[in-house]
Amino acid sequence: MLVLCHRTISFFIFALMTKLYPTLSHIQADIQQGKTSVVELVEMYLHNIKLYEHLNAFNEVFGDEAVIMAHHVDLKIKQGTAGRLAGMVIAIKDNICYKGHKVSASSKILDGFTSVFSSTVVERLLAQDAIIIGRCNCDEFAMGGSNETSYFGPVKNQANEGRVSGGSSGGSAVAVQAGMCQAALGTDTGGSIRQPAAFCGVVGLKPTYGRVSRYGLIAYASSFDQAGPITNSVEDAALLLEVIAGADEHDATVANLPVDPYTQNLQPTTGKKRIAYISEALNSDGVDPEIKSLLNTYSEKLRQDGHVVEPVSFDLLEYVVPTYYILTTAEASSNLARFDGVHYGYRSRNATDLESTYKRSRSEGFGKEVKRRIMLGTFVLSAGYYDAYYAKAQKIRRMIRDKTNAILQDYDFILIPTSPTPAFEIGENITDPVVRYLADIFTVQASLAGIPAISLPLGNNTDGLPLGLQLLTKSFAEAELLRFSKYILELPKN
Ligand code: GLN
Repeated sequence: MLVLCHRTISFFIFALMTKLYPTLSHIQADIQQGKTSVVELVEMYLHNIKLYEHLNAFNEVFGDEAVIMAHHVDLKIKQGTAGRLAGMVIAIKDNICYKGHKVSASSKILDGFTSVFSSTVVERLLAQDAIIIGRCNCDEFAMGGSNETSYFGPVKNQANEGRVSGGSSGGSAVAVQAGMCQAALGTDTGGSIRQPAAFCGVVGLKPTYGRVSRYGLIAYASSFDQAGPITNSVEDAALLLEVIAGADEHDATVANLPVDPYTQNLQPTTGKKRIAYISEALNSDGVDPEIKSLLNTYSEKLRQDGHVVEPVSFDLLEYVVPTYYILTTAEASSNLARFDGVHYGYRSRNATDLESTYKRSRSEGFGKEVKRRIMLGTFVLSAGYYDAYYAKAQKIRRMIRDKTNAILQDYDFILIPTSPTPAFEIGENITDPVVRYLADIFTVQASLAGIPAISLPLGNNTDGLPLGLQLLTKSFAEAELLRFSKYILELPKN
């Protein structure tokens, strides 16, 4: 009771002093007019982080450091030398390396490990004077869709604290949802930016594979992983992508294509678009009726505005989840071989020789879901089964990509739900991995095809839980994707 009262009182005091901003431009305007400063902003977010500590969104807060950096940025603003992200206070998912700071991928196995270099995405944020306020909780090694596989426990959804945040970038999504920072970076292998964004009522963008450098991200499945923004607005997503995207000598998989000026390209869409929705997705029994109805509502709104919205058949839908899990677990089993108790983090105290160091450190250091995936991946790559599983899944990935691209030859966008359900209860179906894997059905198509996709917060269900819809488009067409997203978000809600 006492705790509750304390929380309620602090909430009201805080509400009086808080001003949450839809975009960084609003923040910068207030700074220019002397209405706030970067130091004040950082203090406000730190206050909010304390207030919402029980949501478990952060694994570590870089509080003192953020205040020092804020003074520095305020000075640069006065001198007129500040970067584009001056005033942007951002959180990073705890699988993104930041030199001199701990990074754990929410795993015990990285206990005590400190990054020896910064990821390219972090370097680029800092070069533009963003302030990194902390590292956010996530599913262990980004394996999960609920943040419940984290060694540090689940993240609670601010909209309903009995519900999951989504995952794997659950802490990042809740940090933005609850105003603990202006934006966050997540990573997305099969939906980990988009699905928590949908569950938390914020914007989540997975860029085209090869748009953003993976240098300094803790790898899960290297042919899928991408970092991207989680924000309150499309404007901030556009700005952050513009800053972090582009060629990098440290990552040969990044495209050399120029980065479009996304922020200059957000004027309302001119011209009528062709939008496909996947009929199998809408006809499936597993999709929540309120999500179906949201999709129908938006299809109708778009039609009324003169766009073409049509059903298309994607008969490979039932293969996307198995294909994704065969390929990602295979890649993960190889990527996670480096955590051996010798090079990084946790080492078992019970080890007596080299072999028992490997075995015991890995047995004690990895959680259950990570072990399951390492074993699955090792199995699908094993001599007797390689052709039957891994090689076949590669072929099906190609078919999924070709078919998706064929749809995108005829249509500008594909519109599908981000997730078949809103945020579910913490613990629900936790013992049934297959049920959990199937929940990724709408996010993994874009990941397998390598195309960009964005989740947009387009409403709440009758219980007040956020609902998201997803737009997919052609590779490297983020400029159009962002522009159309802004337009959709600005359509009248009723
Ligand atoms: N839920 C998916 C998985 O568990 C996606 C994870 C991710 O994108 N990192 O693999």
